[in-house]
Amino acid sequence: MAELFYEKDADLSIIQGRKVAVIGYGSQGHAHALSLRDSGVDVRVGLQEGSKSKAKAEEQGLRVVSVAQAAEEADVIMILTPDPIQAKVYEESVKDHLKDGDALFFGHGFNVRYGFIKPPANVDVALVAPKGPGHLVRRQYEEGRGVPCIAAVEQDYTGNAFALALSYAAGIGGTRAGVIKTTFTEETETDLFGEQAVLCGGASALVKAGFEVLTEAGYQPEIAYFECLHELKLIVDLMYEGGLEKMRWSVSETAEWGDYITGPRIITDATKAEMKKVLAEIQDGTFAETWMAEYQAGLPKYNEYKKADEEHLLETTGKKLRKLMSWVSDEEK
Ligand code: NDP
Ligand code: MG
Ligand code: MG
Repeated sequence: MAELFYEKDADLSIIQGRKVAVIGYGSQGHAHALSLRDSGVDVRVGLQEGSKSKAKAEEQGLRVVSVAQAAEEADVIMILTPDPIQAKVYEESVKDHLKDGDALFFGHGFNVRYGFIKPPANVDVALVAPKGPGHLVRRQYEEGRGVPCIAAVEQDYTGNAFALALSYAAGIGGTRAGVIKTTFTEETETDLFGEQAVLCGGASALVKAGFEVLTEAGYQPEIAYFECLHELKLIVDLMYEGGLEKMRWSVSETAEWGDYITGPRIITDATKAEMKKVLAEIQDGTFAETWMAEYQAGLPKYNEYKKADEEHLLETTGKKLRKLMSWVSDEEK
């Protein structure tokens, strides 16, 4: 079973005694920087020349400096730029400013796990990752609550890296909810697998296939959209609140029976075998290499897939239908 840590296990004064640089001010960066500041921590934000988020960070009362200066000033450097550019940011603006005993922190283990970033031996290397989007992390913190975090130590130069990670997690509200100890390898591999096989890849392919089967059989796209995409939220909300049991308690007996007998015909042994292949490619680094090559080539296939799905009948139908649902479309950009 996982090891869990709470407020009583963390010593906030550790991070309060350090100088923290938060590199990046996006979803996670803004939540970390603001909450650490409100927890009495000395924070500066490091951003690139011409950054879009600079003005926002300054408006919110934070000091913004270049990435190199932030890394130079700080002794805890949290890298929260997009993953594919972290290695470049690290090489160009962080590496040369690491001093003996500094701590290099991440919100995701990708670059360290696959060796795109190789920190020197004389720094602590740790991970603090909230299990939720940054805006929720910040809102929970402000409400006196927190989003559960996971924390891991890759390199414990000082012997205090985990205590520092827990202290950092306390500074963003994580220990109010609970912090689970993991490793860079476990965090990275399960995160990639989850998003590919289940959450993003698995779910969107399932929705699309169901929608295609109905529309190809002549049913109206609008009806197919409701059945295969829109209603998924209601189901997922129930699972989120009470697992499969609550979902099955809430749906009709007919739906529950169909769940038992049809689910295994859709997600078959062959699907599970393919999932195992996906996991193997994550573990052996094939996925990471392919993704970084695609990114460096300027995202040709990524853009092709994106465009194809934007033009899919599922998406064009959804766009029209969501305009009729003010409570949904209000949330749209
Ligand atoms: P975002 O894309 O939301 O934000 C990235 C930030 O980095 C922006 O402020 C961007 O600036 C800035 N940035 C871009 N290029 C540079 C650069 N060269 N130097 C300095 N800053 C730069 O990222 P996320 O918050 O989504 O992700 C950050 C990390 O957190 C990732 O490792 C991710 O895996 C992890 N994570 C994310 C979660 C999430 O919910 N989003 C959940 C858990 C972990 P500008 O605004 O100017 O473009
Ligand atoms: Mg992820
Ligand atoms: Mg129905």
